[in-house]
Amino acid sequence: MGGLATVSPGPVAEVYPGKDVPLGEATLVRRVLPNLGRRLVGPWCFVDHYGPEDVSGRSGMQVPPHPHIGLQTVSWLLAGAVQHHDSLGSDAVVRPGQLGLMTSGAGIAHAEYSPEPHPDLLHGVQLWVALPDAARTESPRWEHHAELPVLTDAGGTATVILGDLAGTASPGTTFSPAVGAELAVAAGAAITVPLEPGFEHALLVLAGTAEAAGTPIVPGAMLYLGCGRAELRVSAVDGPARVLLIGGAPFEERIVMWWNFVARDNDEIVAARAAWNDRSGFGDVPGFDGYRLPAPALPPGRLRPGGSTR
Ligand code: MN
Repeated sequence: MGGLATVSPGPVAEVYPGKDVPLGEATLVRRVLPNLGRRLVGPWCFVDHYGPEDVSGRSGMQVPPHPHIGLQTVSWLLAGAVQHHDSLGSDAVVRPGQLGLMTSGAGIAHAEYSPEPHPDLLHGVQLWVALPDAARTESPRWEHHAELPVLTDAGGTATVILGDLAGTASPGTTFSPAVGAELAVAAGAAITVPLEPGFEHALLVLAGTAEAAGTPIVPGAMLYLGCGRAELRVSAVDGPARVLLIGGAPFEERIVMWWNFVARDNDEIVAARAAWNDRSGFGDVPGFDGYRLPAPALPPGRLRPGGSTR
């Protein structure tokens, strides 16, 4: 996957349905990216939308220690709380409106779960950003940003989660040109967002229903917008809406994605899987008594760019 062959150089409005995927034992998530038609939007290579779910009296999110290579994870919540532990020793609780940003560099392991006690509702997104080659051997790092810039329009607000929107930058570290923003649109209103025409963009709705480029955006689907747009008008339909905007410079490097790894070829995936399963790499996440998610068996044949699965 990746490379420039699938990038739309001009504006389009294409709807790509996601799919429901079980995450751990208790949670069902909507996997919006990758989908059957698109693998990347700029450097964004993965979007899971979970909730809103009532987790009162239940354990909520329970994702045991697992490894990552070649990517950044972005945690963004609309409701609830997620506790993050990683092999660097980080221990943080990410709450609504805050950015949890983990850069794997050459390798990191982490666990995510609902703290005890936790709020009744859990609602958020987990996204991955593919790292360009130059950043894939850097040291891993964890960033937690509680204050993010907000742009205001008559119809609503745009919170810059990652990257740059209309000249306003998130404090989160990026390694290739990108934008991630949450648009909160008032009932019956619309906001107009300036865009970087060299980026490709996509939208997904997190709450309510919305419309952009003459096309409704429904929960669980991605609206791909292509490149070449200098601005975008997003309207709320039937009440307020919260919409996630992702985009970036088309990602030129072809990637192989399998399980929790973003790599360049099959051998790299095989090596990362072995290093995790035989405990020769990645380090331990404190506090789980050694329990961790084992990497599953590899599919038959060699993983190739464009033919990968997760
Ligand atoms: Mn993870």
